[in-house]
This record gives sequence, structure tokens and C-alpha cells, in this order.
Amino acid sequence: MTRPGSGGRIEVICGCMYSGKTEELIRRMRQVMIARQPCRIFTPRMDTRYSAAHIASHTGSQLEAVPITSVKQVLAAAEDVQVVALDEIHFLEDSPQAILDACQFLADQGLRVIVAGLDQNYRAEPFPGMMQLMAVAEQVDKLYAICVRCGAYATRSQRLINGDPAPREAETLVVGGLDLYEARCRQCYQQAP
Ligand SMILES: [Zn+2]
Repeated sequence: MTRPGSGGRIEVICGCMYSGKTEELIRRMRQVMIARQPCRIFTPRMDTRYSAAHIASHTGSQLEAVPITSVKQVLAAAEDVQVVALDEIHFLEDSPQAILDACQFLADQGLRVIVAGLDQNYRAEPFPGMMQLMAVAEQVDKLYAICVRCGAYATRSQRLINGDPAPREAETLVVGGLDLYEARCRQCYQQAP
């Protein structure tokens, strides 16, 4: 198989909820499609907020995607493409090392690998898989939302249960919309009780 150039690289798009990560991923993939580069988009099956066969931003733009439960499926379905995009990688159940290894392998094969996901969980702790990818990526873009409390740049995802900060022992991964999460800045973020 021949691929033009030696463009293997990893690009990370990270940030808190509502920072526009998927929107940015979709923007980059639209450019790839306009250039007619063979590409494939993958999304963890667990994210069922929107159509299972699409990635969709909160603002409504969407692209077709292959639903997956493991990065192994990405490796199996990336043989004939030049660009691979993985949205919401924090929902993958693979180990951080497995995610890192898969992305490194694809980039080493000459693929452009674009990965989007949360950099911190609702406890404001780094997601291990994302931490490692950020370290090895050729390009890292950290996006910001606007703090709903004060209007500053928001970097954290405040998880709320009945309006109060979610306790530390709550389940880490919960798919939610505006009722469950708020984007907040460092000052307005309330540490989980
Ligand atoms: Zn604030």
C-alpha cells in the first residue's frame, strides 16, 4: 500500500465539555474530505447521545463514523486510509497504554491520526490516556469553553447532580447534556465532596 508523503503524525484536540472538540475534529475532517484523502472516523459505541453512526457536535454538525468499543477495531479498519479520526477517546475502555500504542502504530505507518477527547474528568483529574497522547503528539490544541458562572475561559467540566457537585465516588463516565455538566473556570469549579 502506498500513501503520499511521510505524513505520520498525531494531533490531539482536548479540553473540557462544551469547548468545541468535536466541532474542531469535524472541521479538520471536512478539509480532509475536500482534499479527497481516504479517511475514516471512529467513535466509541458508548456515546449514544446522538446517532450511533455519526459524530456530532453540540451545535449540530455531524459526520459519519464507525462505532467502536476498542482501539483494536481502529487498527483493523485503518488499512486503506490515510487519515484516522477518533472522537471522545475518554469513552474507550482500553487501557491508556493500548490507546497510546494504537495511535503510535498508526502514525508510525504514515497515517495522520486526529484524536479528540476530554483532558480531565469531572473531578478535574487528568485522563491517563489523554495525558500520554498529549506527550507524544506532534500537535496539541487545548480548547476552552466559557465559564457559565463568571464568563472567564473554562477548562473544567463541573458535573452536577440535582444542582450540586457530584460526589467523588460517582461513576466517572456519564453521557450527559446540559443537565449534567457545566463548563467552569478554575475559580468557579467546585471540587467534588
Ligand atoms: Zn468562572
